Amino acid sequence: MRATAPFLAPGDDVEPSPRYQAHGPRQLDGIARRFGLDRDLADTIRAFSAVLPFRVNEYVLTELIDWDRVPDDPLFQLVFPQPGMLSDDDERVVRAALERGAGKRELEAVVAPIRARLNPHPAGQTDLNVPFDLDGPVRGLQHKYDQTVLYFPAQGQTCHAYCTYCFRWAQFVGDPDLKFAAPGVDRLVAWLGEHPEVSDVLVTGGDPMIMSGDNLRRHLLPLLDVPTVRTIRIGTKAVAYWPQRFVGDADAADTLALFERIVASGRTLAVMAHVSHPRELEPAVAGEALRRIRATGAVLYGQAPLVGRVNDDADTWHRLWTAELAAGITPYYLFVTRDTGPRDYFEVPLARAVEIFTDAYRRLPGLARTVRGPVMSATPGKILVDGVEGEGDARAFSLRFVQARDPGLVGRPFRARWTPHASWYTHLELDPATPPDIAAAFPATPLAEGRSPVAAAVR
Ligand code: SF4
Repeated sequence: MRATAPFLAPGDDVEPSPRYQAHGPRQLDGIARRFGLDRDLADTIRAFSAVLPFRVNEYVLTELIDWDRVPDDPLFQLVFPQPGMLSDDDERVVRAALERGAGKRELEAVVAPIRARLNPHPAGQTDLNVPFDLDGPVRGLQHKYDQTVLYFPAQGQTCHAYCTYCFRWAQFVGDPDLKFAAPGVDRLVAWLGEHPEVSDVLVTGGDPMIMSGDNLRRHLLPLLDVPTVRTIRIGTKAVAYWPQRFVGDADAADTLALFERIVASGRTLAVMAHVSHPRELEPAVAGEALRRIRATGAVLYGQAPLVGRVNDDADTWHRLWTAELAAGITPYYLFVTRDTGPRDYFEVPLARAVEIFTDAYRRLPGLARTVRGPVMSATPGKILVDGVEGEGDARAFSLRFVQARDPGLVGRPFRARWTPHASWYTHLELDPATPPDIAAAFPATPLAEGRSPVAAAVR
């Protein structure tokens, strides 16, 4: 990894932007040669990438990953698939297919059932979240909470690099049946006209910041004609994976001008920065990207999941939230890893997640205590694990919905029996005194602890 400079001061010169260069499975041998990657590991990555997406870029390879610490390096774990992410059986089957030179159709037949077992659309995204208009389901939208609609512009459904824990992996595997994508914004605008209760549009993906300035304008500017839309949020990991998007790219200035125009319209423009590890904020160009975004009048919020082997310790989160505060990002959410993809490899038990969150939180300055967590973004809503009450066998998780499909559930405390292994809300045994409407949002019988549907399928 190259040495990194401190954040630039306003007005400092920035090196001209290098060209964005993505690498996928075909470049693995070259990456292995350049960075001394073990050959067997490279073959595992190849097998994994036939099932789940793999993409890295030159900036991540040279600026973020510490190759002296590979394979344990958290940024390497974040982007490069690892042994254990697929079951031994699945990896064997896929490797065999690759070794015998299986054609596209044969390979698809091998990987389709594996993908299906990895829960491609968690939290009822396809069954429960897709809204309807007079022409039927609107495929590029999700509407789960009254005030907010998620918008998936078709051109924004890739990322500058792919996270191995991505809960949206189904967007990137080339299967149109698994993908959310809106070809244009017209249907969203019409739908918003019928839904004045929706004040927030969350533009998401993939990563919307993969789009050119022209495409961003095409998708965002029509939203300014909808008076009931007050906030536009952009979910992005570009500050981490390709900060040049805001600094030296050919259309960086155009993009920042678009941000200014949105802010000048009186809307709040919120850049929801996905930052998994404090190292992502260390390069000077990342600091400069954040400074330029803030200079447009946009506000920045930070969010990421708690992921085993990437950021599963309190010091990492303390450093991350402290660095976010210093860079003008408001710490927002610490999520629990979702029940999809290679979740078994990354999962952190809720009991441990509470310890990590509490330990990091109690050392923060007051202004960084805006962060909420650990939060499970699940089928019924966002469930906050607010701490642990009691002692010994009488311990209980304190829980609360911070968002819910049924707004009547929000903000009401309830409890579940403490267990050391539960890692998802479906594992929890609710207190018998839980109000019936809250209990109805949970499965009638908890699944076995530590055996998420994904874990059960993978093992
Ligand atoms: S940046 Fe977000 S959408 Fe893209 S791979 Fe990572 S988690 Fe998935």
